[in-house]
Amino acid sequence: MTEEATMTQEKISPDSVNNPEKKPAPNFIRHIINEDIQTNKHGGNVATRFPPEPNGYLHIGHAKSICLNFGLALEYNGVCYMRFDDTNPSKEDIEYVESIMRDVRWLGFEWGEGNLRHSSDYFDQLYDYAIQLIKRNKAYVCSLSPEEIRTYRGTLTETGKDSPYRNRSIEENLDLFERMRLGEFNEGEQVLRAKINMQSPNINLRDPVIYRIKKMTHHMTGDKWCIYPMYDYTHCLSDMLEGITHSICTLEFEDHRPLYDWVLDELQTPCHPQQIEFARLSLNYTVMSKRKLNELVINRYVNGWTDPRLPTISGLRRRGYTPNAIRDFCERIGVTKSDTCIDMALLETCVREDLNTSAPRAFCVQRPLKLIIDNYPADQVEYMEAPWLTEKPELGVRKIPFTRELFIEQEDFMETPPKGYFRLQPNGEVRLRYGYIIKCISVEKDPITDEILAVHCTYDLETRHGMPQSNRKVKGTIHWLSANHSIPAEVRLYDRLFTVANPDSAGGDYKDHLNADSMIVLKDSRVEPDLATAKPEDHYQFERLGYFCADEFDNNAEHLVFNRTVTLRDTWAKVEKKGK
Ligand code: ATP
Ligand code: MG
Repeated sequence: MTEEATMTQEKISPDSVNNPEKKPAPNFIRHIINEDIQTNKHGGNVATRFPPEPNGYLHIGHAKSICLNFGLALEYNGVCYMRFDDTNPSKEDIEYVESIMRDVRWLGFEWGEGNLRHSSDYFDQLYDYAIQLIKRNKAYVCSLSPEEIRTYRGTLTETGKDSPYRNRSIEENLDLFERMRLGEFNEGEQVLRAKINMQSPNINLRDPVIYRIKKMTHHMTGDKWCIYPMYDYTHCLSDMLEGITHSICTLEFEDHRPLYDWVLDELQTPCHPQQIEFARLSLNYTVMSKRKLNELVINRYVNGWTDPRLPTISGLRRRGYTPNAIRDFCERIGVTKSDTCIDMALLETCVREDLNTSAPRAFCVQRPLKLIIDNYPADQVEYMEAPWLTEKPELGVRKIPFTRELFIEQEDFMETPPKGYFRLQPNGEVRLRYGYIIKCISVEKDPITDEILAVHCTYDLETRHGMPQSNRKVKGTIHWLSANHSIPAEVRLYDRLFTVANPDSAGGDYKDHLNADSMIVLKDSRVEPDLATAKPEDHYQFERLGYFCADEFDNNAEHLVFNRTVTLRDTWAKVEKKGK
């Protein structure tokens, strides 16, 4: 196929991310920012950050946060930092760091020179701030065991109890904290805690741990530290150090906001970012928690983090989702403060709509059945012309070779069809798309197994495009490929990962509801000869079948592999109706 017709993902420049003609929908966060700009609250600036923990691959939920944070920065001419929240060396991995950067860029966002940060970049400053808190008598070293700390903390209905170490002198605390840093204690022996209020109704304020000992090598700081700051303490200070104006996080952090504000207030920091919470994205027919995704990957329920059935960004990409479709989805779901579960069908609609106007068309026969046109000359080849993409006439036409022996889909022929079956059947007629009307005259079967080996037809020469009978109507139209000219391909039919909308509350373990048919591999499929040059991540619509994408890793010139992104229509809507 022509160079223009290949659908390799073009890089989107940040400026084109938000279509300037399409104004972003108003939401409560844009409302807050507009007000802040009017009142000159942060000097009129907008600075956001996307702060993933590098302990797994990003998923579609993260995409919502990415589109929001990077999107706002673009919209308001501000900055969005790419910040790795790497305070827990035990779960972090460089593979995750790399995949996260790759995914954010693929979605079409750039953080810009100097804006790639790590919480670990601030370890020195965070340590100095901890000393300041101790000197202000706002933090102390606690020698209770982790279990004792938990018991002393109390519950939602019971207030906590002061630690016996709460009133250590500033000098003693400074000395012990220094010795923690020097590695004189074992993990769990000492922690540094903020001195707030053990009676607070908010558990997060009951003297939270802000530093713990972990004798582990960190992927950025190596063996420099054996004490690591906790998330809540680190996050607000990192935000402050970067001059974040709007620190956007998900709703479960609402109860942490008083702690976020406490740290900054006690340290009288020069700037005080505003934490704003929004509802996280949940989607039906999948799971999104990193713990569960990790479990599915580790225990090989799926083939790695990039498995096209996962809701990871890398999985969606490999499946054939486009950055456009994902950004459009994130815009359509909007940003609110109430938790709702979004229908997977909406995500699928977004990718269908994007690919409908961008993916070239082609024929693929997934499960081939031989069809022989008895009255067609054995050595003749005609080339049937069809548009690559009606919306883009500049891509030109494809020429599909037509010969005496063809392949059609097994399911497009039935020997004893039910009522209303308009595809090929004995003595029936169908149109071969872009070609002739044919009539089935006989069926060739294996005498022993009774398996259908080939279907014999005759064709009507007058019915080709441009011929006198070209407008003759028959009820069915099917796709086809020349047996000799088409080329082999492997086709992977992907479907939803779970059979139920909410695997977490459908009874039993969520894994009991995995869809056994979420991946069907067809090794003997055929495609148009022009697809021989299909490159990884080229998108196509296989006519009548769905949208497909050449596999990012396994597709090559010797072995074509196409993944089904999505069928042409929502086949699950029917299932759901029936179920009711
Ligand atoms: P886990 O708690 O399983 O580690 P996380 O959601 O905290 O996952 P992070 O890597 O810390 O994962 O998330 C990075 C950013 O993405 C955070 O700001 C978080 O609020 C946001 N985020 C994560 N999941 C979602 C989601 N489902 N919807 C919207 N934003 C999300
Ligand atoms: Mg987290």
